[in-house]
Amino acid sequence: MKARPFQFLEVPRRLPRELPANVRVLGWQEIHAGFEAEGAAEQSARCLDCGNPYCEWKCPVHNPIPDWLALVREGRLFEAAELAHSTNPLPEVCGRVCPQDRLCEGSCTLNTGFEAVTIGSIEKYIVDEAFRQGWRPDLSAVPTSGKRVAVIGAGPAGLACADRLARAGIEAHVFDRHAQIGGLLSYGIPAFKLEKSVMDLRRMVLEEMGVRFHLGVEVDATLAGELLRDYDAMFLGTGATTPVDAGLPGQDLPGVLSALPFLVANARRQRGEKHEGDVPFALAGRRVLVLGGGDTAMDCVRSAVRLGAAQVTCAYRRGEADMPGSAREVKYARAEGVQFLFHRQPLAIEGETSVTGVTLAATRASSGRAGSVELVPGSEETIAADVVIQSFGFRPSPAPWWPDCGIELDSRGHVATRGAAGATSHPKIFAGGDNVRGADLVVTAVYDGREAGTAIARQLLRTASSL
Ligand code: FAD
Ligand code: SF4
Repeated sequence: MKARPFQFLEVPRRLPRELPANVRVLGWQEIHAGFEAEGAAEQSARCLDCGNPYCEWKCPVHNPIPDWLALVREGRLFEAAELAHSTNPLPEVCGRVCPQDRLCEGSCTLNTGFEAVTIGSIEKYIVDEAFRQGWRPDLSAVPTSGKRVAVIGAGPAGLACADRLARAGIEAHVFDRHAQIGGLLSYGIPAFKLEKSVMDLRRMVLEEMGVRFHLGVEVDATLAGELLRDYDAMFLGTGATTPVDAGLPGQDLPGVLSALPFLVANARRQRGEKHEGDVPFALAGRRVLVLGGGDTAMDCVRSAVRLGAAQVTCAYRRGEADMPGSAREVKYARAEGVQFLFHRQPLAIEGETSVTGVTLAATRASSGRAGSVELVPGSEETIAADVVIQSFGFRPSPAPWWPDCGIELDSRGHVATRGAAGATSHPKIFAGGDNVRGADLVVTAVYDGREAGTAIARQLLRTASSL
């Protein structure tokens, strides 16, 4: 397709086909199809090439967005895939799950009256279609270095690190307690946002690049000691998944679930993976109340709808505009039938032998610290519920063996790193993703893994060449 200046004047922003809400709630497939070549080229051609690509700067991995949009417009798909991977080891994942409205698309110059280019959907198209046509990262010219690195955690941080190591000729061995790669991409984010076949394909591609996976392996103090002894370096991409405990009276009643264990058990159930200790849940025909307002809460409400709940409500202590997650997810949840109760704070979970409801109080802006809320006296009411899912965010999950290995933590329990590349207080250990930042985003975990992988490679290969 030829470049036509000001194409955005004639061609409106368009997303790929969206499944109607009443159809998509019947299953777990992604709610958007992919672009066809023609649609991707047409939407790419809306890019102004404004010369000041704020989208690139707002993208945490600094993707060269206008450049790959131009390649898509010209039908040069494999070059676009090569370029997309130069900055982002998991472009097809970020294209699906990034909150683009807050990142690249939120800062597109066309937002001033013409609506942003559909950057995320085009990124997804580039990689899905290139893989479908047989494109793969070409590492044939990369000499092997004889170096080996142990990567703990197969989430986006660990996978991005492994990608960069493989591209430098270093053998990356990735260890994870789960049976599949992906971390929260496979055991957290539901399939209607990211179908599990996406991670299966990515696993195949990484294995073809030489990455070795050791799955179903818990890295404890003994194994960590062996890995530190036998490998040239270690990367910790272990995440931060300890739920924040609100300490609500009644939270131990049967029928009260914690968000992530529920999502993990559901993901395993869908894959047919049996796992002792998974929380039992039955939502069909029940009234489900989700407490919290982030992306995890949105994944819970939308999963509850698909599990056949009779009524799904989300209660959040602030207003809609204050919700920490992507506005897009709230819109989808509402379209799928979820009810929202804003400015409501839970005080207690009610019930004798199992949960029967939650007592909530109304909140209003407090005159104290900016953004804080206070309870409205006398506003308490009890909302009936058969199942309550608590989703109050996550705390760090430091392993007991980290301090013994000489890994310093900050005051909140995150791994303390020096500089963007994730060097820790141990000379052989790097870290990145949620275990350093606290619960954040896929794309920031990818950034950290990419930077750490590059830094480890530089360190090991410099040592090798100076021998
Ligand atoms: P993780 O993805 O948590 O991966 C860590 C891995 O390390 C896990 O697989 C774990 O099993 C493994 N591990 C840890 N310790 C050990 C050990 N000792 N031995 C073996 N294995 C170990 N972000 C977005 O950008 N968009 C979204 O839509 C979005 N939705 C989300 C929905 C939910 C429900 C949740 C919980 C988070 C969501 N996020 C989203 C946030 C995003 O998923 C995380 O920020 C990201 O996955 C962090 O990546 P990570 O690699 O640091 O950690
Ligand atoms: Fe946008 Fe995320 Fe892709 Fe960056 S990685 S271009 S923020 S979708």
